[in-house]
Amino acid sequence: MKKWMLILLAMWLCGVSAVWAQSLECDVVVIGGGGAGLSAAIEAADRGAKVILLEKMAFLGGETGISGGTIQGAETVVQSKAGVADSRRDLFRYWMEAGHYKNDPELVRAVVDMSAANVEWLMKLGVAYEPRNLGLGGWTPVPRAHRTPGGGAELIKALEKAARDRGVTILLGTKATELVSENGRVVGVRAEGKASLVKGKAVIIATGGFAANPEMVKQYAPDYVDSLPITTPGITGDGIRMAQALGAKTRGFGGVIGFRKVKDVPYGSTIDGLGRQVIMYVNKAGKRFVDENAYYALIAEAIHNQGGVVYQIFDEKKREALGSAGQKDFDEALASGLIKQGATIEELATQLGIPPEALASTLAEFNGNAAKGHDPVFWRDAATLVPLTTPPYYGLPVFHANLGTLGGLVINTDAQVIHTSGEAIPGLYAAGSVTGGFFGDVYPAGGSAVAMAVATGRIAGANAASLVK
Ligand code: ADP
Repeated sequence: MKKWMLILLAMWLCGVSAVWAQSLECDVVVIGGGGAGLSAAIEAADRGAKVILLEKMAFLGGETGISGGTIQGAETVVQSKAGVADSRRDLFRYWMEAGHYKNDPELVRAVVDMSAANVEWLMKLGVAYEPRNLGLGGWTPVPRAHRTPGGGAELIKALEKAARDRGVTILLGTKATELVSENGRVVGVRAEGKASLVKGKAVIIATGGFAANPEMVKQYAPDYVDSLPITTPGITGDGIRMAQALGAKTRGFGGVIGFRKVKDVPYGSTIDGLGRQVIMYVNKAGKRFVDENAYYALIAEAIHNQGGVVYQIFDEKKREALGSAGQKDFDEALASGLIKQGATIEELATQLGIPPEALASTLAEFNGNAAKGHDPVFWRDAATLVPLTTPPYYGLPVFHANLGTLGGLVINTDAQVIHTSGEAIPGLYAAGSVTGGFFGDVYPAGGSAVAMAVATGRIAGANAASLVK
């Protein structure tokens, strides 16, 4: 190979494409290609703005992409087809009460008011929200969790198509590193990847939370440093840091979107799923501590209160129910010691380091109640009660995990980023999980983050586009 060819090859291998990276110009720059960023880009493009979206990963989606793709909404067309009576008032009150009134009522109202329109907007873009898939989210009896079989991936696919159809330029593998401001006004971002500078009349930060940044978790959610993040690697709080460098105000830190996970196996694998089945959880003392059928963020809080790890207890029948497909994973988990086994419940307890009499007595009580179809300990739904009577017995540790963080940049109802002085920072908008104020300390219901991301994204996109003359 000729010397110049080797040099070129070496440059390519070192990823020095940035050498050729260009300065670009547009009307609206969007940082982050998750639910909020794509919604913002589509809305801005629909209003005639030329939009460039930067996504630091090689793929779009962020946390939204790996989520269930569920969206909360009240008074929606889907609910009306399903005959569900719901109201914006009830959704507003639910979100405020779940947030213990630590959240911003104006922001919550803005998201509530748009929720039905946003469900329809997504349906028009191709997301299949249907009456038969309506479900419960959180602890409300009202089915307002709009689900889609394709999950978050379907949502992102529809949003990406809509963005591309509208001429949005999407630069993958391009990380925003710094906001550029002139005379107090944000006029662009510096970046690494397919562009080094992107200028625009407005910048929308939609970089998601910071679950994949252990330092920031330690600083802003110190109670959850040991929580297992279920996240994509791009969620490192960059937008919070970039805006803070310009004096942006933050609020609402401390909590996470609580979930639970089995350690050392992939999220969603057979063994991880086994850890989340509604069977019987006990703590280190061998006692049940929660309704195993409760809403996931509340189970997560209960696990957190037990020190972050609890045990899923099950019997041979549950193992058999995994079927032949799951058997290989099960055998591997047993061989590696991840799953413990005992010929008797006492033997299993010893394996798990739990007092044997305590676990035996919990199981005897649980089985007696399950046989009667009544759980006087937690009033768990009778349909989910199945006695565990077929040895051998098994135990699987289940850890507190999170699907993202709560808290971030303060925005107003126009999605403008607020400075510590209380003034909006001209030209700067934020949307989605990079913002704080929508949630309190506990994640209220599956589908809330998507509802907030789509609403604030569309608001940010519309207002940013309005700056274009
Ligand atoms: P939201 O629900 O608020 O849209 P997501 O987690 O779904 O949040 O999406 C955030 C997206 O932002 C992710 O795809 C992530 O990789 C991307 N991102 C994070 N930091 C940067 C950055 N500095 N530059 C470009 N993209 C970023």
